[in-house]
Amino acid sequence: MGIERAVEHVKRSRHLIVFTGAGVSAESGIPTFRGPDGLWRRYRVEDLATPEAFLRNPKLVWEWYAWRLKLVKNAEPNEAHRAIALLEKLGLVKAVITQNVDGLHQRAGSKRVIELHGNISRVKCVECGYKGELDELPKEIPPRCPICGGLLRPDVVWFGEPLPSDKLAEAYREAREADAVLVVGTSGVVEPAGSIPLIVLERGGVLINVNPEPNRYDPVATVNVRMTAVQFFRDLIRALKAPSP
Ligand code: NAD
Repeated sequence: MGIERAVEHVKRSRHLIVFTGAGVSAESGIPTFRGPDGLWRRYRVEDLATPEAFLRNPKLVWEWYAWRLKLVKNAEPNEAHRAIALLEKLGLVKAVITQNVDGLHQRAGSKRVIELHGNISRVKCVECGYKGELDELPKEIPPRCPICGGLLRPDVVWFGEPLPSDKLAEAYREAREADAVLVVGTSGVVEPAGSIPLIVLERGGVLINVNPEPNRYDPVATVNVRMTAVQFFRDLIRALKAPSP
């Protein structure tokens, strides 16, 4: 299964980082984009999560975000999120680089989280650049800027948009320092994020790929562990004789 080899690599690592995607939150009830529950109404994600879609129909895009935001607000971090936070506390994990926008790593207690794709609970104004937090679901859709009345958009990275340069630089720095990366619950197809774990490999480190399905890392990973995120971290925590998270 690869789990024993994965545990050995984790134990031996000096600078372990975790790279996560939508799959780590699947067991919290948040659908991935590419799984069977990934569709909303009959739209493809690529037709909603783009600047063009927002310009064309901000109301439709906001209805989708309101649906996702509600799922995120009602979700709880799962055992995998909590184990990652525990391993950071124990000094084993140095950073979490996530493509997720749900904030569940932080809610589980992770401190050093690099959010590559923004956060669904934040908004920004397309007119004046105002940024704010969404403590509750927007009352009016699409919501308006409290400063200038312009359109607010989710503070996330859409397809075709550049990633925040400071976050990307931080993620590259972590990947260059790491001698091991745990890649959890990502297809790896979204670039440039998907290439970050490969930096660890290129520099002689190990890549542990945790996913119930094959993905882009399968052919190159040091170890492939065909498990769900929760199953994997349960086994890892037990093997490390750490307290349960
Ligand atoms: P993806 O939908 O392309 O891939 C999800 C991956 O998770 C797949 O490889 C799947 O096999 C795997 N997976 C499914 N259930 C799993 C489980 N229980 N444990 C471990 N792995 C599991 O997602 P992506 O690679 O993250 O890329 C899509 C983009 O959309 C990213 O930016 C992503 O973060 C974003 N997104 C975010 C959320 C969120 O914040 N929760 C949800 C959906 C999509």
